[in-house]
Amino acid sequence: MVHHFTIDVEEHFQVSAMEPHLPRAEWDAFPSRVEASTLRIVELLEEHGMHGTFFVLGWVARRRPELVRRIAEGGHEVASHGWDHRRVTALDPTQFRRQVRESRDLLESLSGAPVLGYRAPSFSIVPGLEWALEILAEEGYRYDSSLYPVRRRGYGYPGGKRRPHTLDLGEHTLFEFPPLTLRLLRANLPAGGGGTFRQFPLGYTAQALRRSEAAAIPGTFYIHPWEVDPEQPRVPGLPFLTRVRHYRGIGQTMARLRRLLSTFRFRPIRDTLAELEPVEVGP
Ligand SMILES: [Zn+2]
Repeated sequence: MVHHFTIDVEEHFQVSAMEPHLPRAEWDAFPSRVEASTLRIVELLEEHGMHGTFFVLGWVARRRPELVRRIAEGGHEVASHGWDHRRVTALDPTQFRRQVRESRDLLESLSGAPVLGYRAPSFSIVPGLEWALEILAEEGYRYDSSLYPVRRRGYGYPGGKRRPHTLDLGEHTLFEFPPLTLRLLRANLPAGGGGTFRQFPLGYTAQALRRSEAAAIPGTFYIHPWEVDPEQPRVPGLPFLTRVRHYRGIGQTMARLRRLLSTFRFRPIRDTLAELEPVEVGP
């Protein structure tokens, strides 16, 4: 069984929990860290002979075109994380369409390959926002990886399926690759990566991946560049909990990723999709 390794490519100050404390207009004043930390993950994957799916923000691609080219040249998949990390809950359908279209156009022109997939900032396609999935399909996307089947405040898609599946959207279909969860006492717990990967014992993620293997389905794991960047400057004025959640465990992420990549096999979502449907890859 080969799982999916995915990376949401964004700056350390663009995470949703910081949004209320950090106006977008100030983003350009912060030192950029995304290139070096993303390359750390690219090189780690390559050391292990593996490739991943990089969901890149349009905002980042515009400012760091060389990074997108480097990811693509390494044989990794480039996909879209929207434009400016605004959650889908904060966009209307017209704004959403513009974000997924413009980020896709830019990423395709930089990578020279079709963009097939999308992941919403903070898994923000929540129940009631299914119109976003229809727009993705209309815009030519082939899969989504935003429906996190967990019950959490502000994000998640409780009631969603835990395994990869097809979404029937009337005229279109879209494949859905939900982030990894762990089923416990009839509840779905988040186990896809990010905070749980940094803050829980490694065995937690490993257990979720092993159970996926036992069910013969690939698990979808995710991590952010800022999670492998212990030296990132601390954003001032964050509330206590936001600070703890963002920075805790950050010094150990690289070592943990090394163990994860030595234990399990991963590939881009694109490769699994190609087995589910014939996909034209490359220009
Ligand atoms: Zn994100």
